[in-house]
Amino acid sequence: MADSAQQQAVQVLHNTFGLKHFYPLQEQVIHALLDGRNALAIMPTGGGKSLCYQVPAMVRAGMGVVLSPLIALMKDQVDALRQFGVQAEFLNSSLSRADYARVQRRLRDGTLDLLYIAPERLLTDATLEQLCETPLALFAIDEAHCVSRWGHDFRPEYAQLSVLAERFADVPRLALTATADAVTRRDIIRQLALDEAECFVASLDRPNIRYLIHQQPASRRQALLQFITDSHRGESGIVYCLSRQRVEDTAQWLSDRGLTAIPYHAGMGRADREAAQNRFSQEDGVIVVATIAFGMGIDKPDVRFVAHLNLPKNIEAYYQETGRAGRDGAPASAWMSYGLSDVVMLMQMLQESRAEEGFKRTERQKTNALLGLCESVGCRRETLFGYFGEAYSGPCANCDNCLSPPETWDGTVAAQKALSCVYRTGQRFGAAHLIDVLLARDSEKIRRLGHHRLSVYGAGSELGKPDWSSVLRQLTARGLLAPDPGGHGGLRLTPQSRPVLKGEESVSLRRLPPRPSRRRRRTGTSAATAQAVGSLDADEARLYEQLRTLRATLAREQNVPVYVIFGNATLLDMVRKRPRTALDLMEIAGVGEVKLARYGAAFLRLLESS
Ligand code: ADP
Ligand code: ZN
Repeated sequence: MADSAQQQAVQVLHNTFGLKHFYPLQEQVIHALLDGRNALAIMPTGGGKSLCYQVPAMVRAGMGVVLSPLIALMKDQVDALRQFGVQAEFLNSSLSRADYARVQRRLRDGTLDLLYIAPERLLTDATLEQLCETPLALFAIDEAHCVSRWGHDFRPEYAQLSVLAERFADVPRLALTATADAVTRRDIIRQLALDEAECFVASLDRPNIRYLIHQQPASRRQALLQFITDSHRGESGIVYCLSRQRVEDTAQWLSDRGLTAIPYHAGMGRADREAAQNRFSQEDGVIVVATIAFGMGIDKPDVRFVAHLNLPKNIEAYYQETGRAGRDGAPASAWMSYGLSDVVMLMQMLQESRAEEGFKRTERQKTNALLGLCESVGCRRETLFGYFGEAYSGPCANCDNCLSPPETWDGTVAAQKALSCVYRTGQRFGAAHLIDVLLARDSEKIRRLGHHRLSVYGAGSELGKPDWSSVLRQLTARGLLAPDPGGHGGLRLTPQSRPVLKGEESVSLRRLPPRPSRRRRRTGTSAATAQAVGSLDADEARLYEQLRTLRATLAREQNVPVYVIFGNATLLDMVRKRPRTALDLMEIAGVGEVKLARYGAAFLRLLESS
């Protein structure tokens, strides 16, 4: 690209967005667009896709057109851009008549930097003709995986976007997505006629996300509460549960314990769901407890944690769902707790599936890969990215296994006892009963079945109930036990159990994690928000709270989410550097010229009085 265009791009980054450097891939994508070339960018959530088209749209002559299927997000995106002083509008079915007329006027006047538009709107003749008469800087096709019939999110209108190549041959096109396997990439390139386009693929790694995966024999909810209060008190997060009932119960349970938690699931009315979504994105520190129906179209940057109270469906789902944490790059956690019942349920769903054998085999492999991730004793990133074909060698220093390597123990004898117990009781009972037998509990069921007369009765007294539950879960995850075909939650032996029972194979098991102590200190990476907040002294913490209150007031006045005013990292930077003048304030990350003009005085006043 011409030097001057490059310099202008850096100027826009500094002056408009208040940021210091481009991420390496952003620079390359922007370079291609400024040169007038097409590009395909595959970057993880939070990887900074937006700047890839926002900056060149402002540098190049004409207006940038952004296609997105996520209508619900457009208003927030445009609001956020306006806060930076960018001339942005959106066109979709939610627009009032008056607003529509205003956008039309601005289109004709040529005063827009960026126009966000839904594909079905773009494809109308009127819009296409109008755009033909408007000088255009570029097209950005967001969520470009929607063109693929094989993907998880096919949108028919996307399949018609080849019209862009035909009618706007001179306008560079940028396709963007967070995940695209080889088939999807090929579809994107073909459908959008991006043959000559360069493909930019960012690493899947989200270094600021800390992966934490526990199996929890006792109360998962209790563990969740502990995790939130220890590491994310007062911060925004998402808690995923499997069923609507669990969602309701868990939200209530957390609220009863003083947290701001609200439910979200498909069974709620539309208005209630919208209200929940709005509270989550506009208020600070709200926890949404949800089924997986929640998340698509959430681009709140400061979600500090995503928690799973059950196993997700597979590793793709896990990566996508956890990817909603920490888009702003500040430390965030992906926390999961699962139990034997989850493992049994996944296996059962597989067995009962009526799909054809090939499909089932794929599903089985996916399930095994997920369990492999959960049970691994090595770096979680290695397993996670390895699954997607990205070589990664740990330790990453930011997952549970790297931070405190799990202990293993020789579980051969325990495994033999557990397997024998399954065998002697007839291969039809679930974990609870098996453990009762191993621990010689006295129950009506045991006496009725005569299980107190079995040789395995009381054979497991050297371990406690949680340990046995862990042993059974690990044996099931490794295929040494399988759910019974009847689907009643019972466990039976598998061909792999034999060598263990006969003493030909030993079994190394993961030791249960010690119960976390209540006073454990929060540990975060580098200079990052979560840790930074933890390390503030009392005065600083008070100032930080005052800044947040000011931000909330400003956000409420304009009815926009708090983070479009300033992110937490920006407020923390203010606490640390205590800017006194407008020039000082410009040094703070996230403060550009327009935000300085809008909010500089209010924040300086507060900082001065502190
Ligand atoms: P994506 O669309 O890829 O999920 P976004 O474009 O929303 O990601 O960017 C995620 C976050 O990263 C935003 O809060 C954004 O301000 C921040 N960000 C993007 N690029 C940079 C950069 N070069 N320097 C600092 N922060 C950045
Ligand atoms: Zn690791």
